[in-house]
Amino acid sequence: MEKIFYYAPTAGRLEDKSMNVHWEHAIPAYKNAPHVWNVGGQDNVCVFLIDTGDGLILIDTGLNAETCYLVIDRICQSGHDPRDIKKILLTHWHNDHTCNARVLHELTGAEIWLSREDEIEHKKHENMVGSIDLVDGKPVMSWIDADSEEAKLAGKHADYPYEVTNFYDDDKPIVLGNFTIRTKLCPGHTPGVTSFFFEDTDEETGKTYKVALHGGLGVNPMMREDQLKKDGYPVELAHRFVKDCYELAKLPVDIALSSHLNQANILPNIPKDPNDYSVFVADYAWADVLINRADAVKALYPDVYKD
Ligand SMILES: [Zn+2]
Ligand SMILES: [Zn+2]
Repeated sequence: MEKIFYYAPTAGRLEDKSMNVHWEHAIPAYKNAPHVWNVGGQDNVCVFLIDTGDGLILIDTGLNAETCYLVIDRICQSGHDPRDIKKILLTHWHNDHTCNARVLHELTGAEIWLSREDEIEHKKHENMVGSIDLVDGKPVMSWIDADSEEAKLAGKHADYPYEVTNFYDDDKPIVLGNFTIRTKLCPGHTPGVTSFFFEDTDEETGKTYKVALHGGLGVNPMMREDQLKKDGYPVELAHRFVKDCYELAKLPVDIALSSHLNQANILPNIPKDPNDYSVFVADYAWADVLINRADAVKALYPDVYKD
């Protein structure tokens, strides 16, 4: 069988410049699992909508404030009412996943969930804007005050502040309607990345699929030693990520969701029929992508990982 899902970096798509013409990056809503849609509406960061049968769950909130309208439009396009969102689950605190939490909370009254570890980072970085710049040919991530001249000159603005209402407890699954979502803290990309695991049954075929989403697979620069030191994080974060990826890769997963479309070569494989999720049933994808990402971190530490 030809493997169509694999880690596939896409140069340029994360640049602010390309996202200033975000309409050129718009994509339709499509089904990713029997009751799961990607409603992110652009070709970069995914927003997953789960129809639990008793209200909606949203995982992440979109790339930036400029594309919030796409998220709301794609929720409607998928046949749902945004006002039925009961819970907003955030994979990690970075702005490209949390930027519309406030707006969607105001619209729906939904709970906002984050890990305690990333709530510390969220509070630390309130009213800050991030950018990735090339220094000596290497990407380096920086956070600057949104009110600074530098931020203004770069045309950056802070997101609307949001308050977290609930914290994940990996021993207590999140239950709503027909869905029981288990969480797992997966530090690395940030100290509090959270991954999600659940089953989803297609009533038409009677088939049940194991679905998983790793909350943070971006490794460069985030898990490079100089970046970790710059952010005040222990270097163990990178090694914990490697260990966790190898462990998690052993889990049987039928459908691997991807928080960024490039992390599993999703974009070229979005089905023409937005309701046909069958292309995403690929039991190799989860393990392949996790091991690829773990190996990418290992390559950053050649003295530690000699094999
Ligand atoms: Zn991130
Ligand atoms: Zn991201």
